[in-house]
Amino acid sequence: MVRHSSRIELSQSALKTNFKFIRSKIGEKPIISSVVKANAFGHGIDPFVSMAEDCGINHFAVASSYEAWEVMQARKRPESKVMIMGILYESDLEWVIENGVEFFVYDFRRLEQARNVAKKLGKKAVIHLEVETGGNRTGLSEKELTPSLRFLKNNSDFLEFEGFCTHFAGIESLANQFRVQRQLKQFNELYSRVKKFGYEPNLRHTACSAAALAFPETVMDLVRVGTAQFGLWPSPDIYNLHLMESKKVKDAPLKRILTWKTDIMHLKDIKKDEFVGYGTSYQAPRDMRIAVIPIGYSNGYPRSLSNKGQVLVRGKKAPVVGLINMNVFMVDVSHIMDVELTDDVILIGREKHNSISIKSFSEFTNAINNELVSRLPSAVPRKRVR
Ligand SMILES: *Cc1c(COP(=O)(O)O)cnc(C)c1O
Repeated sequence: MVRHSSRIELSQSALKTNFKFIRSKIGEKPIISSVVKANAFGHGIDPFVSMAEDCGINHFAVASSYEAWEVMQARKRPESKVMIMGILYESDLEWVIENGVEFFVYDFRRLEQARNVAKKLGKKAVIHLEVETGGNRTGLSEKELTPSLRFLKNNSDFLEFEGFCTHFAGIESLANQFRVQRQLKQFNELYSRVKKFGYEPNLRHTACSAAALAFPETVMDLVRVGTAQFGLWPSPDIYNLHLMESKKVKDAPLKRILTWKTDIMHLKDIKKDEFVGYGTSYQAPRDMRIAVIPIGYSNGYPRSLSNKGQVLVRGKKAPVVGLINMNVFMVDVSHIMDVELTDDVILIGREKHNSISIKSFSEFTNAINNELVSRLPSAVPRKRVR
């Protein structure tokens, strides 16, 4: 097997801890739909899906029909359900319905299309009505609601009314509370209209990670959890709400499941006053030992970490010197004893007493946690570890 220049390890025990913590917040009853869009937030749909299945998860949510197909390949259990929350092309409806993949419907025409395909296949389409509550992304408008309910009811041989749902516009930030509370109120009002109409869905759902962890009133029959399952806090606000609620000053109930490792490709001793790499952004202040790392911005390592990032070598922090290039960057290892070409290099993760967090990247790059991980190239091999 030809080797890739880096590798990602995913911790099963950390994942189990995270689901347990999420359960402790939402209670026993709600279904956890594991959101695995964007290649499981860069963690790798394969093996992440089967790791989640081994934690008892049997519902997955994605952003497109293509990603639904990826989950179908990755799942080990045929009973695991897949739900598309985003783009579903009409040309994919047949595959989706044939395979029992569930999907959000946010405009009336989609109901007619789904009915037609379901009728042709002789198989029910499984539908989640997504309603507009003020997020102004996708969502069925208020005036489409009653016609949609009527259509669902009249075509119940072909359309399963599985879910009634909405998505909050930034519930991870306390500054948005006035807006998301209005969304929740609107959702509950629309739902009472559904009840009045007399044709109810199997499930109601609104909560993402932040909502599930901090706002119990948003937790209904199912929660759609992305960020938190990977051991990442949706925001400092949500972490602080947890500390207040649990009356602690420090707590780490969520564990990062991802470790990203690479190698040293070359070691070099350089003299004081020499420049490192392209241009003149780094000039050696003393004689130094430099390690060349076979990773660059094309591998998802942000270029904005030039002269700022850190990696771990032998458990010690080694600072980036010079610019991050397309496929390499350099680090200073002068202070680390006996560095060898065979040493592992930790880009994200823990070694001995030190750790490079995903959050530490965002401090320099302005990228949120999810942006960094979701851009990790899919070609990097992923491996499940204990
Ligand atoms: C991405 C997404 C989620 C999951 O959000 P997290 O904050 O990562 O838990 C839930 N619902 C919808 C509609 C989404 O697009």
